[in-house]
Amino acid sequence: MGSSLKSLNKRLFNTIYVEEAAYGYTITREMLQKYPDCPVIPIRHYKDVFNRTNQHYAIQKQYPSLILAVKGNQFLYKGPAVCQDFGHSGHSAFYYTSFLLNCIFNCEYCYLQGMYPSANIVAFVNVEDFKFAMEQAVMKEPVFLAISYDTDLIGFHNIIPYYDYFCDFFASHSELYVEIRTKSANQTFYQNHTPLENIIIAFTLSPEEVIQKYERHTPALEMRIKAVQVAIKHGFKVRICFDPIFIHPELDNLYEPFFHYIFTQIDPGSIQDIGYGFFRMSKHFFKRIEKHQINSQLFSEKYWVDKDVVSYSPELQEKIKSKHFGILTQYVKETSIVTI
Ligand code: SF4
Repeated sequence: MGSSLKSLNKRLFNTIYVEEAAYGYTITREMLQKYPDCPVIPIRHYKDVFNRTNQHYAIQKQYPSLILAVKGNQFLYKGPAVCQDFGHSGHSAFYYTSFLLNCIFNCEYCYLQGMYPSANIVAFVNVEDFKFAMEQAVMKEPVFLAISYDTDLIGFHNIIPYYDYFCDFFASHSELYVEIRTKSANQTFYQNHTPLENIIIAFTLSPEEVIQKYERHTPALEMRIKAVQVAIKHGFKVRICFDPIFIHPELDNLYEPFFHYIFTQIDPGSIQDIGYGFFRMSKHFFKRIEKHQINSQLFSEKYWVDKDVVSYSPELQEKIKSKHFGILTQYVKETSIVTI
């Protein structure tokens, strides 16, 4: 390993915490070999570190620690109402799973800040237990499974290549339909893996100004578009997600040229569908984030609250949506746009 890469690795995590039960798993061994200069602290249970009170989320986010842990129970969760199931609810069960808690990116609008007490990243090492749970679920009915849900798995792939642990399993379980959502620009991921019929890569794209404003540490739009192009070229099924869409006088004019631009760069006939959704968040998470994001314009705006979800009013959503759909339907059929 070159010295520059070594020092980069050294800086990547503040500390690696290892649950006693996590020693002995392949991922743990590989992480400890990969980051030999990182201080390692054995712990009894990941929640002893992750759930501590008075953690400073923003500071941890700058220099997170990695916590290697064994997930003890519940490997699959029912997909919540604020998420898109892309029409799978009629003929399959919608679940999500989290091999990782937290994310290397740092989007200002991310609900994880309201969900977890810590910005440290928990990585579960017992992949076989996840597979067992998936197997049990698909024995009952076909399953739509979002696996990059509380994180960005492809963004994290160069640290822990979770997909590599699961791709053979996915290849042999065609009744498991897997969505991997990402903002990553990792092109080699698509060059190095074989596309599968039951895997869809869902790329989140936003106007560059929105990326700069709200999606810290994420790749620029141009880089994401290149990754989309490479994924399509290598035969991956691709979904484009315009989600979250923001409604704000400073941003509203960005979306129309942005949609046109996207479809000059990406052949609309080569994507499976489009996910479309407005900024939304559970009221509980919003309130928690609002308290510590005191300088955030996003969290100081007034929103509409309906059934514990904070978002824009239905009238406003309808008005903007119909403007946007006027453009999007120039490129794809309306039935190919999935909204929430
Ligand atoms: S990429 Fe997704 S999970 Fe990661 S910080 Fe942004 S919104 Fe959160």
